[in-house]
Amino acid sequence: MMEQKKNYIKTPVFKSHELSKQFGLNVNYKMECFQPSGSFKIRGMDTILKELHSQGHRKVIASSGGNAGYSLAYVAKQMGITLKIVVPETTSEYMISKIKLLDSEIEIYGKNWNESNDYAIQNSKILNVPYVPPFDHPLLWKGHASIIDECALQMNEPDKIVVAVGGGGLLCGIFEGLLRNDWLKVKVVTAETEGAASFAKSHEARQIIELETIKTIATSLAAKKVVAKTLDYASKFEIETYVMNDKTAFNACKDFFNEYHTLVEPACGAAISYAKSKKNTIKPNENILVIVCGGVNMGMDKFLEYKDKYQH
Ligand SMILES: *Cc1c(COP(=O)(O)O)cnc(C)c1O
Repeated sequence: MMEQKKNYIKTPVFKSHELSKQFGLNVNYKMECFQPSGSFKIRGMDTILKELHSQGHRKVIASSGGNAGYSLAYVAKQMGITLKIVVPETTSEYMISKIKLLDSEIEIYGKNWNESNDYAIQNSKILNVPYVPPFDHPLLWKGHASIIDECALQMNEPDKIVVAVGGGGLLCGIFEGLLRNDWLKVKVVTAETEGAASFAKSHEARQIIELETIKTIATSLAAKKVVAKTLDYASKFEIETYVMNDKTAFNACKDFFNEYHTLVEPACGAAISYAKSKKNTIKPNENILVIVCGGVNMGMDKFLEYKDKYQH
């Protein structure tokens, strides 16, 4: 059988000329926002669905009403796999309708993601249909690692790489990519909003800390704890944890829109905001690579609502 084509694209690396002109910063953006599903999540989802497809599965179940669910829905549709997604009551109409447009079945169950997720896992066992997790799986990390494989052909090893952290799937993928491409000297900057700083807290304590509550507009970072593997990998690299408020994350989305005319969500703004926020401590020639993880959770209406609220 012919090998199935990839459902994600090789994304470009763009320099930020505005940050260079305004502040003398040397920043490059890896444009994951250009993926067909709007975020890097498609890389991991493509990798895991290919594996399940090769095992003969044609139906899967998941629990994310965010970018994981949306990217999974996109890949499932491309591959002719039937997908059911369980989402909590808090999921926006906007995301539900976007996922439905990709022909996935949606069931609303649970007050929060943990409840929907438990229910999805239960269903998967009862129906004997594979469950696809949003961030905690080695095949997802393997897929996300392809970001660094591409960067290694597009540029020299940067001094710093900035990556947003939710459950830590992207971070694990980045570490895996750095290791397999021999980019071992790069400093890894983890970006999180104050209300969802689960990696920063765990890294400081050198053990996994579960947050009691999550409060942030960067909904894609809203995991109460990161996967344990993030700490194993982190011990092999120099790490800087960067935590900012929602306003800073949002305004980075606005700046990014003004430079590259692409709307990304606050989870991604968290990473983009690093260079401008830390401009006084960044050395003049430091080469910074920002993973522009993207995200479709903030449509234009939400953008305008936040713009009113967070206007500088
Ligand atoms: C999922 C996601 C993240 C966080 O990724 P994790 O693997 O959960 O750490 C960050 N930004 C965007 C846009 C996302 O979709």
